[in-house]
Amino acid sequence: MIDFDGISFNDLISNRIMAELGNHDPSFAELSQDQVPNRVTRYSFMALVAKLNGLAFFPKVAEFCDPSLHVYCDATVMTRAFFAPLCLSGTDKLIVITANPWNPIAEEYLAPRFPDLEIVKVVTLATEIAHAIESVGGNNGPSRSDLEAIDVEDMDDGIYDFDVTTDYVEPMAQLVAMVMSDAVRTQASDIHFKVEKESFYYAFRVDGDIGRKVEIPMKLKDRLDAFLLNLMRLPTEIRNTVPGISGRFTISYFHRPIDIRYERHRTYRGYHITMRLLDKSNINVTLGKGTLAFDEQTMFALGKVMKIPSGIIVMSGPTGSGKSTTLNAILRELNRPEVNILTLENPVEDEVPGITHCDLKNAKEFKPMIASFLRSDPDIILMGEVRDLDSAELAIEAAVTGHKVLTTIHTARASQIIERFEQLGIERWKIAQTLKAACAQRLVKMLCPYCKEPAAGISEFERKTFALDESWADVPINKARDGGCSECRNTGYSGRTAVLEIIPITPKVSDQLSKGEISPYELEVKIANEGILPNLRRSGLKLLREGKTDLAALSKVIDMTYTDE
Ligand SMILES: [Zn+2]
Repeated sequence: MIDFDGISFNDLISNRIMAELGNHDPSFAELSQDQVPNRVTRYSFMALVAKLNGLAFFPKVAEFCDPSLHVYCDATVMTRAFFAPLCLSGTDKLIVITANPWNPIAEEYLAPRFPDLEIVKVVTLATEIAHAIESVGGNNGPSRSDLEAIDVEDMDDGIYDFDVTTDYVEPMAQLVAMVMSDAVRTQASDIHFKVEKESFYYAFRVDGDIGRKVEIPMKLKDRLDAFLLNLMRLPTEIRNTVPGISGRFTISYFHRPIDIRYERHRTYRGYHITMRLLDKSNINVTLGKGTLAFDEQTMFALGKVMKIPSGIIVMSGPTGSGKSTTLNAILRELNRPEVNILTLENPVEDEVPGITHCDLKNAKEFKPMIASFLRSDPDIILMGEVRDLDSAELAIEAAVTGHKVLTTIHTARASQIIERFEQLGIERWKIAQTLKAACAQRLVKMLCPYCKEPAAGISEFERKTFALDESWADVPINKARDGGCSECRNTGYSGRTAVLEIIPITPKVSDQLSKGEISPYELEVKIANEGILPNLRRSGLKLLREGKTDLAALSKVIDMTYTDE
């Protein structure tokens, strides 16, 4: 089954698409259906869908959308089935855009609403349909009147596995399903629900940025809260007695399961809920491809790190910098039948066949779990995060006894990893002798390829602010267009790419660190000056020079205001 842009094509259709892809380009014949979304561009894919149906393909149509036609239609129905009326042609034809022409719902839904018109379908991108619907509705959320119409009464409980692509009679379920399916469609990483003094709203985090706030009537706040707690079978009474509630549940999006990690904080005005979407279709990335398409220098340095037989490899970076995605990709590379790999995560983000995944229910389980781990003769251990003395000590113990340990830690700079271990109570020499590679990662937003604009160099003010030399004054670069275009949901950016910094702790460096002859920061500067190993600032500037990102996106995730070189 091919899943493209949120549209699931059934097996019969998927097979026809695969055959046609092979005819179109023999290299596509090798692909499995899962690989199609990552390897085939949306333009080629939808053009092929159009061809198979004998229909025309128009990639850019949203701006021609006639709002008066949408008065009769429900945005939810259209969004779910990927169609929308576009405009009239002459007096008797209705042009309808669709991203899944095999789905008969478009005709079934529109024919009775436009009885005197002949429906003429054309194919477009799924995003274009969303844009057309959004441009008419003014926002992508439910209308104010829809929300006001929701009754505030007791609801049925007992929905545990939540299908967000089904219609619900219960209005609160319908609202939450709509918000969540919207979040998946836009590839949001988080959904926030927040009660403030005079407003209650939700917002999505997409590509690292929190987007527009969508207001929800205040009267729904308790109801929504209770609905989500019920989903996780948590008693609603606890919301007033505990400051923080954590939980998990699974939603089904077009039959694709997506894990949700739920965090609720009680606030002065009510609550703030954050739901992280662990969309496995996005997590399953490979080193060298997609988000992890590192440059040659980085791939080489990373390859070397992966060959280290034992010791600790730490990935640092703030929340949302893709640390665990990279570690999971490394694990997949290291995964061989003869290698015993164990993971200890909370929650398990990416299940890989052949790897033993364990999920940590609470912090107390950590110590006994690792102890039993070590007895089961693992070669490689992935520990979700080093957050306290217990986990730091256990990582060191595992490394000393000859295991390879991969883990993450919350620090900004790679050199701070050593200091962080010291703060947790580990002696400098212990960490210096077991740490083999200190890495830092960031995700940098990429410019939207459809609307990026050329810029003639970098202004003197920005050169001074971001410590860039004169040569940047007239380097031809690109920048995001204000207001973007319909392809990038008006953000000017599309997707992110990872940049990595790697500091290997060689025996010589380990010795110098143990004896206090060099500080971790001095080591970082020394390595940056040698210029052989990948470095956050330099890799970021390379992306800038190549016109793939802009200074605004770069300086948001990498501190550019100084240089050590
Ligand atoms: Zn754009």
